[in-house]
Amino acid sequence: MARHLITSAIPYINGIKHLGNLVGSQLPADLYARYLRARGHEVLFLCATDEHGTPAELAAAKAGKPVADYCAEMHDVQARIADGFALSFDHFGRSSSAQNRALTQAFAGRLADQGLIREVTEEQVYSVTDGRFLPDRYIEGTCPNCGFADARGDQCDNCTKQLDPTDLINPRSTISGATDLEVRTTKHLYLEQSKLKGQLADWIASKADWPVLTTSIAKKWLNDGDGLQDRGITRDLDWGIPVKRGTEDWPGMEGKVFYVWFDAPIEYIACAQEWVDAGKGSDWERWWRTDKGADDVRYTQFMGKDNVPFHTLSFPATIMGADDNWKLVDYIKSFNYLNYDGGQFSTSRGRGVFMDQALDILPADVWRWWLLSHAPESSDAEFTWEAFQQDVNKDLADVLGNFVSRITKFCRSKFGETVPEGGIAGDAEAALTAELDSRLAAYAQHMDAIEVRKAAAELRAIWVAGNEYLQSTAPWTTFKTDPEQAACQVRHGLNLIRLYAILSAPFIPDMARIMAEAMNVTDLDWPEDAAAALTALPAGHAFVVPENLFTKITDDQRADWSERFAGIREG
Ligand SMILES: [Zn+2]
Repeated sequence: MARHLITSAIPYINGIKHLGNLVGSQLPADLYARYLRARGHEVLFLCATDEHGTPAELAAAKAGKPVADYCAEMHDVQARIADGFALSFDHFGRSSSAQNRALTQAFAGRLADQGLIREVTEEQVYSVTDGRFLPDRYIEGTCPNCGFADARGDQCDNCTKQLDPTDLINPRSTISGATDLEVRTTKHLYLEQSKLKGQLADWIASKADWPVLTTSIAKKWLNDGDGLQDRGITRDLDWGIPVKRGTEDWPGMEGKVFYVWFDAPIEYIACAQEWVDAGKGSDWERWWRTDKGADDVRYTQFMGKDNVPFHTLSFPATIMGADDNWKLVDYIKSFNYLNYDGGQFSTSRGRGVFMDQALDILPADVWRWWLLSHAPESSDAEFTWEAFQQDVNKDLADVLGNFVSRITKFCRSKFGETVPEGGIAGDAEAALTAELDSRLAAYAQHMDAIEVRKAAAELRAIWVAGNEYLQSTAPWTTFKTDPEQAACQVRHGLNLIRLYAILSAPFIPDMARIMAEAMNVTDLDWPEDAAAALTALPAGHAFVVPENLFTKITDDQRADWSERFAGIREG
């Protein structure tokens, strides 16, 4: 038994995520956590909401709510949806927690003590009316390039030109509309990541087993252009973690907060403290501190490719720079993007299926199965309603659902709702056992390697093997001439349902539970070998015919959903 720490990239607070976000981090992380638990390992699986920064302030202002209230509400919404998808976090924390505040301040103080923080004086736009410095996105004005009246301080949405706030003609505050803006100097703290470049490069070079997607992005950011740059870790904002040097005030930094990129990943650690403080566990340090036992922990992170630079460079720079026995990640599993029906998911246009909408129309397992079996691992993947309908109808209804329904109903009609006695296993059963032994090994190998699509393909093949066994032995035909032999075939079929309940649970936990409950089994230990698994339910064991696992998606439903989620055209 090993100890596994698993984190999913923490979703930003301002709104409900789409299915592409889900399959890029939380869902495969849950698959892996469920699998490792089923194999008997000790697992701590953490996720949280990322709550600081300008977008949260803007979203709260738009909703007409204080930002702290807005974040608390949206955290609850995201937690509820995560439950809906059966994401088995040990704790779903918040980057705005008291634990993260103290830990972030402690990290900053420690980095300063290590000589890795310097102060930089910058010029920034200040709004006299608002009494605050304005981040780029809080400033709008006329684009000097195309004359568009509502260009943002960082970019013109009309002509896409990258801008500085000082480029804008007639700039105004988006908070108040005030035009009495002026450029003032302000001081910020920078993390001197450049001093850690060699250490980071050696570390990444040592990770030969990481996915190429992960290491290629890390090396690009490390070496391209001007290479790894020092980064500001503070902002002139109200909403965030107040800048302190440990528990002490930081002279010159009054009224400033830490930049969200700095405090968000520290929440991975603080979340373990929240887990303990919520009474769900004890001793978080044995997961996170190498001087307190975390050297024995294997730490795996899951994320979309856009998050790779922060997790391969910025957060490791924080950990390495602190040089204080914090655990570094052991393996980073990154994902490409899932596209939607020939384009991208779009929050602003309502294009694509968002997590709450998905649960409104179909059970979570249907989404889990399709998304995981099409996880964008080696390249971007594409969701289309045609493929979705065809794949889930085939895999979950024609293959798995049909198998379960057919064998349990046949048994009930001929032998009653108990596992029948009699018959002797022969060549067909030996062939089934041999095939399952080889597939069980392959399935475990793919799951251990977090090869999500390959694991899904292997699981599907295991379902198909059961169907082929039933097809070739045809107990409904055997029964007419040799009821004893038919009983043996049915017994194998019923034991396959128990095996499917165990093997399928990481992918489709609800359907797996229905299968396990119908088979009346509590022993769900991972199978050591197929022969034992196929005789686990003895003759005389009672079961019930389960409810239908999955009702097929109709053409009408597909057409309706395709239209409903196509998005609203702008303009
Ligand atoms: Zn423009």
